[in-house]
Amino acid sequence: MLDLSDDEILSLSKEHVFYTWSAQARVNPIAVKRAQGVYFWDTNDKQFLDFNSMTMCVNIGHGDQRVIRAMQEQAAELAYAAPGMTTKVRALASKAVADITPHQALTKVLFTLGGADANENAIKLARGYTGRHKILTRYRSYHGATAGAMAATGDPRRVVWEPNLMTGVVHFLDPYRYRSTFHRTNPDISEKEFSQDYLNHLEEIIQYEGPDSIAAIMMESVTGTNGIIIPPEGYMQGVRAVCDKYGIVMIADEVMSGFGRTGKWFAVEHWDVVPDIITMAKGLTSAYAPLGAVAMKPEIAAAFNETVFESGLTYTSHPVSLAAALANIGVIREEKLVERAAGMGPVLKRLLTDLGEAHPSIGEIRSIGLFGIIELVKDRKTKEPMAPWNASSPEMASLRKHCLDNGLFLYTHWHTVLIIPPLIHDHDAIWALVNSIPVEMRDDGKPRAHQMTPQEQQLMAFLNAQK
Ligand code: PLP
Repeated sequence: MLDLSDDEILSLSKEHVFYTWSAQARVNPIAVKRAQGVYFWDTNDKQFLDFNSMTMCVNIGHGDQRVIRAMQEQAAELAYAAPGMTTKVRALASKAVADITPHQALTKVLFTLGGADANENAIKLARGYTGRHKILTRYRSYHGATAGAMAATGDPRRVVWEPNLMTGVVHFLDPYRYRSTFHRTNPDISEKEFSQDYLNHLEEIIQYEGPDSIAAIMMESVTGTNGIIIPPEGYMQGVRAVCDKYGIVMIADEVMSGFGRTGKWFAVEHWDVVPDIITMAKGLTSAYAPLGAVAMKPEIAAAFNETVFESGLTYTSHPVSLAAALANIGVIREEKLVERAAGMGPVLKRLLTDLGEAHPSIGEIRSIGLFGIIELVKDRKTKEPMAPWNASSPEMASLRKHCLDNGLFLYTHWHTVLIIPPLIHDHDAIWALVNSIPVEMRDDGKPRAHQMTPQEQQLMAFLNAQK
């Protein structure tokens, strides 16, 4: 096929590839050769267990022939059609996405190329629909790397690019109980009161900014890389009510939390909330092809019945990506992966809780479905994180290295370890893998390898033998 020996991949890449999110001189990529199920292999045939669904996106696992065949057949039949045309796969994929939205209420779908441009288009739709300018988002959020989505992003990835970003974004605080600014002296407050405090904070900001100037509140339904922050009971419903009160469009960014990840098609369903717009990507095709989407309520689409929607993308509704999405949704249904993630949710929570109880280096664990996090701390009392805000530390670098050396691929983010496996991992695999994360730090700051029980060893040997 492609004429390049395995040994030359890294050196040729070093010469010509420009890497995102990286200082170019320091990149040290894994040269991936193939992937199947929950595994991938590098060019030295080293096997990795994928415990992060690559970039939190391969929800159905790797190498699924049903999706691959659908893409091949679509490419052979019709590889591309212009944005103003339509195709069989466009009609079917739009319906398939509309059908899985909460109460099937978001009936119109605009396809994009990924998550960032889905959010960009959602912002434009909200601004056009309301005739207002401002967008409210949270500090602990990531919404994408294009100028508008980066402006919407609350985390430090935005700060580097300021002030050359989209104007009009105002940030507010997340209901993050473990490190809640408002509740340092009363941490035992009830969940209801806790939610209300953060809703009051949001409403106060709306008042200061002027409700008539705010087009949308956009938030990740469950925060992703910024901490798997699960909304406390009443919070999402409260945000919905605030949006209704002031005529503000509610945008749920489900790029990471959608497609079964939390045990529902979309995470907002846990709180029976119907947003006006849902943005999605990643699990929409399980990354077999690039695709994002903006699903909207009919009234939002109707605002553009006579007014032109001044935006577009050459590759909107790319047939090969849509074929991947349709087949992927089919696989999620066929394999009951939403139900499976829902069933695994309590199992993962129990495992993480046990781990947390056993290791003083764990400050808190949180999870919903197969979407989890371990917060590592130097001191449980002070909650001093194992790495400072927006930085790594020798301990965290060492933990990640230990995992990779041992063929476990997962993400660490600052002082946290993310648990975002493909939804096809079974009970035993999740159990063995969670227990193999070296969360106990030695005095020299190196992670202490977990001493596996014979049963765990047997399981790991079995898992590693799968090819
Ligand atoms: N929104 C969320 C919640 C994300 O996690 C991401 C990516 O990680 C994005 C948006 C941006 O998606 P993309 O990288 O496809 O542009």
